[in-house]
Amino acid sequence: MKQATPRIEVNLYKLTHNARMLKNLFAKKGVQITGVVKAGAGSVEIARAVLNAGVHSLADSRIQNIKKFREAGLDVPFMLLRTPALSEVKHVVEYADMSLNSELEVVRALSQEATRQNKVHKIILMVEMGDLREGILPEHLPGILQEVLQLKGVEVVGLGTNFACFGGIVPTEEKMKEFSQLVREVRETFDLELPIVSGGNSANYNWFVGAEEVGEVNNVRLGESIFLGKETVHGTVIPGLYDDAFRLVAEVIELKRKPSLPYGESAQNAFGEKVHFEDKGIMQRGILNIGRQDVIVDGLKPLDPVEVLGSSSDHIVIDSTNSRLKLGDTISFSVDYGAMLSAMTSPYVAKKYMTMRPGRYDGVKRANVG
Ligand SMILES: *Cc1c(COP(=O)(O)O)cnc(C)c1O
Repeated sequence: MKQATPRIEVNLYKLTHNARMLKNLFAKKGVQITGVVKAGAGSVEIARAVLNAGVHSLADSRIQNIKKFREAGLDVPFMLLRTPALSEVKHVVEYADMSLNSELEVVRALSQEATRQNKVHKIILMVEMGDLREGILPEHLPGILQEVLQLKGVEVVGLGTNFACFGGIVPTEEKMKEFSQLVREVRETFDLELPIVSGGNSANYNWFVGAEEVGEVNNVRLGESIFLGKETVHGTVIPGLYDDAFRLVAEVIELKRKPSLPYGESAQNAFGEKVHFEDKGIMQRGILNIGRQDVIVDGLKPLDPVEVLGSSSDHIVIDSTNSRLKLGDTISFSVDYGAMLSAMTSPYVAKKYMTMRPGRYDGVKRANVG
């Protein structure tokens, strides 16, 4: 029977393998990993695969996903990554054990709601270290902490920071020492334990491997390195990890010999872009049943000998001169983070989960090659 297309194939075995390798690696210097599953768009199968590695907690940026995991019976601590919106504090207290926070007003709202629900909601205060997404500026931290410590229903369990997500700022040894120093100062000033010191994400890999000691950091939140086996500062594959747990598959819906150069009066395409093509004469051209409405096409790399010529909302056009495609055949692509995220989120892309062990020729990358 023909399988549905377009589809994204997820190898759960490889995800578990990656998570287990990372968990063991980080444990060598006393750092626990929190599995960030937000790119799975609420997939319970993926969350389970990460937990099967023995990872002790999961994180997601959306409270809807955490609610779904809870309702599926996943029984581990859940961390909400994205600073809660004032409008969602009720659900945050209800479903998340812990959230990352950077706004006093939000923490106040969480405190009120937690008191109402008769709960204690755990809080990690995020510190700005230069990437300029979420975080309290270090000079404002004491003032805010003073206020937060007065509040009922919330418990400050740690400090966190984030790198390389918005501003592309690298967690260097110097930055990480600065962060640890800040943690020590806060512990001393406020006589606080701060059991969780969450030092970053998949961008922290090179720092971690190179650092003689990790300072106060005892947690990292890892998403992309579990999903795609990569550290995110240079985009290199981490030794021993799979970079191909996800694969996108689309189907050939038109296949014809046509000119390589569009003909007629030339204006812009459907996306307002002025496009240019090289004249390669007559070529074998294929159309695939996936487009920009389904996936970030720039993040796809064909695993078959075809070349992507361009795309529109619902189509990708390929040059298939060098392959022996037939109508109805499928083309597979590797995905980058953006392509994976968009395909996982799209209701038009079927999700296929596979649990098989990879074969002998589908092996682990050994060299540190991109
Ligand atoms: C997405 C996210 C992570 C995980 O980042 P990766 O690069 O996928 O490891 C960690 N922390 C926060 C706050 C995030 O939003």
